[in-house]
Amino acid sequence: MTDDRDPAPNAPANTPVTEPLKSHGRLAVSATLRPRELMSETPDLAGVWKAKVITLLPAAFPGILGESLTGKALKDGLWQVEPIDLRIFGEGKHRNVDDTPAGGGAGMVLRPDIMGKAIDFAQNGAPVNREEWPLVYLSPRGKRFDQKMAQKWAGARGVTLICGRFEGLDERVITHFGIEEVSLGDFVLTGGELAAQAMLDATVRLIPGVLGNADSIEDESHSAGLLEHPQYTKPAEWRGHAIPEVLQSGHHGKIADWRDAQSRAITKARRPDMWEAFEAANPPTSKKR
Ligand code: SAH
Repeated sequence: MTDDRDPAPNAPANTPVTEPLKSHGRLAVSATLRPRELMSETPDLAGVWKAKVITLLPAAFPGILGESLTGKALKDGLWQVEPIDLRIFGEGKHRNVDDTPAGGGAGMVLRPDIMGKAIDFAQNGAPVNREEWPLVYLSPRGKRFDQKMAQKWAGARGVTLICGRFEGLDERVITHFGIEEVSLGDFVLTGGELAAQAMLDATVRLIPGVLGNADSIEDESHSAGLLEHPQYTKPAEWRGHAIPEVLQSGHHGKIADWRDAQSRAITKARRPDMWEAFEAANPPTSKKR
């Protein structure tokens, strides 16, 4: 019998995946005590912020995160992503991971025993303290993801994200592990992968060094409780529309005031909820207007 628990996850992982092993139905444990199929092509970088993503679609990672700024940072070793293929933990000839909903109804539900093994594997070696290492299930029932959560995650050592598919996870897995449910928004996706990538993008760009210009993080939308002011670039005149004069004045104080006023006006008009919270936190008298 193989143990229900996983092998050591911190073993070196430098052998590229070639072809699936023949030993269906259980974890194939290699000499490095790590399932061969889970070995990534990139070695584990100690101390570097890491996202472990449990998914039925491991090839979807890094996906868009492998492009542009997040992609360069990934190549430079400023963060890392480890997709964990749920299928590896599946059972039987077809490595089943799901079954019909108890009580009837449409669709399939991800099995708790299979997901449990994948979570054991992911969490082995990761800090137990959830502040240091959040354990998250992407779910439309979850708390709405926001900039604050991105900041929290970026300040942790890493995060484990569980992507659902079909009708989602067996509830017992969620309660057993005390998993936090987080939603990308009030809509239903076919799987958690796009939500995971969106949240990782928002998080990774806050890791020091990932963005070239740290200033851009400080005054952008949502970071100070306000939406950002409008942006313009050359040409100075386009199809009869000019760039606001103050921005071409070279007067830094006036530009800052104009941007601040725009930020406030846009927030007030578009997001009364944010404006109310902002005003409560920054009473008009305590701040220069
Ligand atoms: N039956 C579920 C939806 C399942 S959708 C329900 O009604 O709550 C399939 C999977 O897509 C989910 O398990 C979840 O991981 C992912 N997903 C769907 N919508 C999402 C959202 N708004 N945010 C994050 N993940 C989402």
